[in-house]
Amino acid sequence: MKEFRYTRAATVDEAVTAATTTPEPSVRYLAGGTNLIDLMREGVEQPDRVVDISRLALADIDELPDGGLRFGAVARNSRIARDERVRRRYPMVAQAILNGASPQLRNKATVGGNLLQRTRCGYFYDTTAACNKRMPGAGCDALHGFNRMHAILGASDSCIAVHPSDLCVALAALDAVVQLRGADGVQRAVPLTEFHRLPGETPHVETVLAPGELVTAVDLPPAPQGRMTYVKVRDRASFAFALISVAVVLDTQEGRVRAARIALGGVAHKPWRAFQAEENLIGAPAEDQTFRHAAGEALASARPYQHNAFKPELARRLIHRTLVELASGEEGQSR
Ligand SMILES: Cc1cc2nc3c(=O)[nH]c(=O)nc-3n(C[C@H](O)[C@H](O)[C@H](O)COP(=O)(O)OP(=O)(O)OC[C@H]3O[C@@H](n4cnc5c(N)ncnc54)[C@H](O)[C@@H]3O)c2cc1C
Ligand code: SF4
Repeated sequence: MKEFRYTRAATVDEAVTAATTTPEPSVRYLAGGTNLIDLMREGVEQPDRVVDISRLALADIDELPDGGLRFGAVARNSRIARDERVRRRYPMVAQAILNGASPQLRNKATVGGNLLQRTRCGYFYDTTAACNKRMPGAGCDALHGFNRMHAILGASDSCIAVHPSDLCVALAALDAVVQLRGADGVQRAVPLTEFHRLPGETPHVETVLAPGELVTAVDLPPAPQGRMTYVKVRDRASFAFALISVAVVLDTQEGRVRAARIALGGVAHKPWRAFQAEENLIGAPAEDQTFRHAAGEALASARPYQHNAFKPELARRLIHRTLVELASGEEGQSR
C-alpha cells in the first residue's frame, strides 16, 4: 500500500477544510472503510491523504418536518435496516440493505460510503488490465472481455461497468435527496437520481461531487402511497452483488394504476429509474398485460454485451413479476 497522510476530523467543517485545503493532489474521505481500504490494499486507489469522517456527528436518523426521514452520512447500514420507522414507512430500504453484503460489513458500512462505493468490475480491480475508470485513456478490457455482470443501459464504449449498490436503487425509487457540504461551507442538495453520472467518455468521474465535497445526509421525502418492495436476483443467495435488482412502488385504486415507480440495479453506471414506463402506467388497468408492457418499455433501449445477453429478459421478467405481485397484495422474494 502506498504511504499516505491521515487526518481524523472532529466536525464537518474540519473534514471539508482538510479535504479542500490540503496541498496533496489526491484526497479521500474514510467512512466505514469497507470499500476504500480494499481498493488501497490492491493499489487501485492511491490517495495521498485520507480524512477519517467515521466519528462525525452524522450517525443519526432524524425526522424531517415534512414527514420524511434524514439519514446521517455516517449512519451504519445495519442501523438503518433495523430502525422501526424505516421498516414501517420505507420497507424497501431495509430489504435492500439486508440483501447486500454480510452482517459484519453492514455494521461498518455507512450511507455515504454506500453511495460512493466503486464498481465491482473485475478489470477495475486488476491493475494489470486496461481500465478507463482506473486510468483514463487506457481502454476498457471489459468491452470484449468477460462482461456477464456489466451494464445494459446507459453505457458507453469507454466503460460498461455498473454501480453495485442495493441501497441506492431503493433510494432512487423513493426520490431521495443527497445533502452536500463543500468548500467555504457551501451546502447544496442533489436528487439521488442525478447524483451518479453515466460514463460517457469520462467514466472516472462518477458523481456530481466537486473535489472535497462531503455527503452529509440523505433525505427521504414522506413515504409514497401504495405498496413497495425491493427484489434482487444474484448468483448466490447471500454475499453476492445483483445481477438485476428492482425497487418498485405501486399505488392502485379501483383496478387502475394511480402511480408507479420502477428503479433498476445491476444494469447501469447509476441506479436506473424507468421514468417513461412509470408515466405510461398511470391510469392503466392494473393487470398482467399492462405490467408486461411496462416491463418491456423499461428495457426498450437495453444493449447487452457478449456475456450478459440474458440480462434484458431477466430484468423484464423481474419487473413484470414484481408489479403483478404488488398489485395482488403479495411481496416479491429475492432470488
Ligand atoms: C465482500 C463485500 C460484499 C459486498 N456486497 C454488497 C452488496 O451485495 N450490496 C451492496 O450494496 N454493497 C455491497 N458491498 C459494498 C458495501 O456496501 C460498501 O463497501 C459500503 O457501503 C461502503 O461504505 P463504507 O462506509 O465502508 O465506505 P468507505 O469504504 O469508507 O468509502 C467508500 C468511498 O466513499 C467515499 N465516501 C464515504 N463517505 C463519504 C461521504 N460522506 N462523503 C463523500 N465521500 C464519501 C470514500 O472516500 C470512498 O471513496 C459489499 C462489500 C464487500 C467488501
Ligand atoms: S467496464 Fe469500466 S471499470 Fe470495467 S474495465 Fe471497462 S472502464 Fe474499467
